[in-house]
Amino acid sequence: MNRSNKVVTLDSVIAFLKRTHGLYINGGWVDAQSRDTLPIYDPATGLQIASTVDANQQDVERAVLSAHKAFLSGVWSRRLPAERERVLLRYADLLEQHAEELAQLETLEQGKSINIARAFEVGSTLNWMRYTAGLSTKICGRTLDVSIPIPEGARYTAYTRKEPIGVVAGIVPWNFPLMIGMWKVMPALAAGCSIVVKPSELTPLTLMRMAELATEAGVPDGVFNLVTGRGAVCGGTLTTHPLVSKISFTGSTVTGKHIARSAVDRLTRLSLELGGKNPSIVLADADPQQVIEGLMMGSFLNQGQVCAASSRIYIEAPLFDRLAADFELAVKGLSLGPGMDMTAQINPVASRAHQQSVQAYLADAQDKRAEIISGKSVPAGDGYYVSPSLVINPDPGLLLTRNEVFGPVVTLTRVANAQEAIIQANDSDYGLTASLWTTNLKSAMDLVPRIEAGTVWVNSHTLIDANLPFGGFKQSGTGRDFGVDWLDAYTESKSVCIRH
Ligand code: NDP
Repeated sequence: MNRSNKVVTLDSVIAFLKRTHGLYINGGWVDAQSRDTLPIYDPATGLQIASTVDANQQDVERAVLSAHKAFLSGVWSRRLPAERERVLLRYADLLEQHAEELAQLETLEQGKSINIARAFEVGSTLNWMRYTAGLSTKICGRTLDVSIPIPEGARYTAYTRKEPIGVVAGIVPWNFPLMIGMWKVMPALAAGCSIVVKPSELTPLTLMRMAELATEAGVPDGVFNLVTGRGAVCGGTLTTHPLVSKISFTGSTVTGKHIARSAVDRLTRLSLELGGKNPSIVLADADPQQVIEGLMMGSFLNQGQVCAASSRIYIEAPLFDRLAADFELAVKGLSLGPGMDMTAQINPVASRAHQQSVQAYLADAQDKRAEIISGKSVPAGDGYYVSPSLVINPDPGLLLTRNEVFGPVVTLTRVANAQEAIIQANDSDYGLTASLWTTNLKSAMDLVPRIEAGTVWVNSHTLIDANLPFGGFKQSGTGRDFGVDWLDAYTESKSVCIRH
């Protein structure tokens, strides 16, 4: 490797990794009651780089009580909206000041390219933080004319007000730990709630650093708490805790359903952002270069570990051979290497277990004699690499045809026409995102309403924005994140009726 392409790890990052980490409760680090720890590995080497607490039930209980006490005290929930906004904007400024440190931590724990960590985990998160901070001062209800006829002559004025919902449990996956973590923290804080957030046990480090920065920004003690630990124990205790009023979960559909089932007992409010098996439909009149550029990024960004990633590409017959050849060239041209190498385009996936899971899908396809085109061989060593792969005209019997692989594996399927593409695209339990590629406006306008997905892009893919609501149809989730109505999910609406 050319040495100059390798990012030099900051001293502050090295120092953070070496720390003995606790749990962030009531505005500071505390020792856990649990003596168990969890190793954090660098996916590029397979070596342990840090260790965190594996919190037990008592630890989670302490964090929830801290959040609940802070909420009831009104120290944040009853603060003027403009004051909350100011604190949250300061919080964003602190992320900006520590941008490189957080980007490097993310690459080291998650494996992704430092370029992606800088641009998305930090850069995009900053946009989201400032957008959400601004929502603090935009919370509003409505005044309502009512027609209550009794007692005779009485008049009423009615209005609704939005009130912070209480303690929020934020559960975060490992693919974009900082960005998705802040998608839980920011709306909760903007609405005036308190939060206990649980990052994935694989990738807790950036959110741990953000907990400290929240206090530095002026978020009062107890309003932002963070617990680390395994999903079943730490996550399970948090999401079933009676003092938790709202769960905001991003992760797999299996875990989401499990949490939804347990939330029913207390009717805990719930937002679920779940998995996807997202189709792209390429019509014969699409611009081939635009398709290749857009879908190479839309499919292989972060090694395909993106809930919104395109993983099933349906191409109208006249363009199929040309595009299949272009995709093959592009995939074979991708360089593989560690995330800290700025020139590496494909980096390791997040964990050994996930590497094995993606490899198992490819092995199944190979066993069933699928046509697989793979990219360059993976670097020597113990990094969790998977070579980017295309599977051509996959048989319905392959495991990867319907299941979310969540890796650098994409299927290319020849279809006779748009009608066949729509039928195949919608033939999925998921409905998170989709894209349509065409230069014909009429085709786009006709087909968009027929696609069963929460987001449909035309001539692009995976381009999300703080002002563009995001969420799933079908088993890809419930509720919408982002947009001007985002805080509705973190507030209760109270109707007030005044007789006068
Ligand atoms: P998981 O569902 O395995 O885990 C998500 C989070 O839930 C982790 O923090 C995990 O902890 C925790 N968890 C696991 N079991 C429980 C439980 N019983 N109770 C409470 N919490 C629990 O998903 P992954 O981390 O593997 O993430 C990948 C998935 O996330 C993919 O399906 C992807 O599509 C989806 N995703 C969806 C997005 C969207 O916006 N729709 C965005 C990004 C990802 P631990 O890691 O410690 O086990």
